[in-house]
Amino acid sequence: MDAPTAPVALVTGGSRGIGRAVVTRLAAQGYAVAFCYASRDEAAEQTVRLAKDAGAPQVLAERVDVTDRTAYGAHVSRVEDELGPVDVLVTCAGITRDNPLLLMRDEEWSQVLDVNLTGTWVACRSVVFSMMKRRRGALVLLSSVAGVHGNATQSNYAATKAGIIGFGRSLSKELAGRGVRVNVVAPGFIDTDMTAVLADGVREAARGRIPSARFGAADEVARAVSFLASDDASYVTGQVLGVDGGLVL
Ligand code: NAP
Repeated sequence: MDAPTAPVALVTGGSRGIGRAVVTRLAAQGYAVAFCYASRDEAAEQTVRLAKDAGAPQVLAERVDVTDRTAYGAHVSRVEDELGPVDVLVTCAGITRDNPLLLMRDEEWSQVLDVNLTGTWVACRSVVFSMMKRRRGALVLLSSVAGVHGNATQSNYAATKAGIIGFGRSLSKELAGRGVRVNVVAPGFIDTDMTAVLADGVREAARGRIPSARFGAADEVARAVSFLASDDASYVTGQVLGVDGGLVL
């Protein structure tokens, strides 16, 4: 009898931060994991090591821009060839380019829309047909508390994160009857490179607004992601789960 093959998880933006924590946690749960990243090869190599140490049966990392439809499609084909069909997709790739509206440059608006929103669409579109055919799959999309409540100087970012909620809820309705679940995770302030750039004053002010009185850890988001990706969430779809220490912006 053939040995059972490991389930396959695909992550966008897996080299650092929340994506790295998701890769590592799913690896520890026995998934074969694959991820893409933008440019930081050393960070990606470190994530590969962490995933292997955590017990992943296979790990595949590729430098692929989520906004490049052709390259992302080739990434998914390679993953399917080497690891097998994708069971779980988690979209973590994201960027910020903060500025008040009147100072925001055209490229700050369009880069954030391209990576955060179009990149999420590209990744989902690349795996959904195969999931529908197998009547099995879970998509977990990273939004943000900024997409739920809005945040000053983040109109571009918040627009993409609100867009991801509308996109994910719509997809959940399209795909539920085909055995594919779609959920959204909306983190608050999480300790990663993305929030490390905040000035001390901004950081303290943010902390003062969080009922849990601290920033979250990337793994605290990864644990919520892994629940939504798992069969424990077999009747959960179309939801937006806040992982934010009670924060309302
Ligand atoms: P991060 O530490 O800055 O990591 C971002 C990741 O995305 C990196 O792996 C980066 O690759 C990758 N990436 C960026 N642009 C990409 C592109 N065009 N193609 C492929 N990969 C790309 O961010 P994070 O804090 O972990 O955030 C992860 C997700 O959670 C984002 O969607 C973010 O909006 C969301 N989120 C974060 C927080 C927070 O407080 N940290 C709060 C709410 C929501 P490289 O390493 O190669 O640059």
